[in-house]
Amino acid sequence: MLCTHFHENIEGMNCLFCRIVSGEIPATKIFEDDVSIAFADIHPQAPTHFLVIPQKHIDSLAQATAADKDLLGHLTLVATDLANKSLPRGFRIVINTGEEGGQTVEHLHLHVLGGRAMHWPPG
Ligand code: 5GP
Ligand code: ZN
Repeated sequence: MLCTHFHENIEGMNCLFCRIVSGEIPATKIFEDDVSIAFADIHPQAPTHFLVIPQKHIDSLAQATAADKDLLGHLTLVATDLANKSLPRGFRIVINTGEEGGQTVEHLHLHVLGGRAMHWPPG
């Protein structure tokens, strides 16, 4: 039987990160709870680079609504708790949003990057 999340949203059938949530596509998972998962980015841009995503499909931050307020807070705290455990010198959390925001996977995700000095402004 397939994971319920796979059936909950027809969009999820074609969404890479929904497929990671359902287990259909493997990922190096570092955390999971009832509403989120965190896993290593397949093309790390820093010594530490992982993603925190909602199990529920949301296209991007631009599509989030007031109903997602608790979820967004939760995702931010999950990302921060995980980062605090291994990145005491600091870290960066990034949410690329939309075409010009550099988003390539249309399922909301927080990047957590660390283990080197980050630059500003970003590219
Ligand atoms: P975006 O460009 O949308 O902000 O971030 C998408 C991220 O997902 C990229 O950093 C990319 O390396 C990562 N990614 C793309 N495909 C996969 C995959 O199949 N598995 C994992 N773990 N990460 C992926
Ligand atoms: Zn999805």
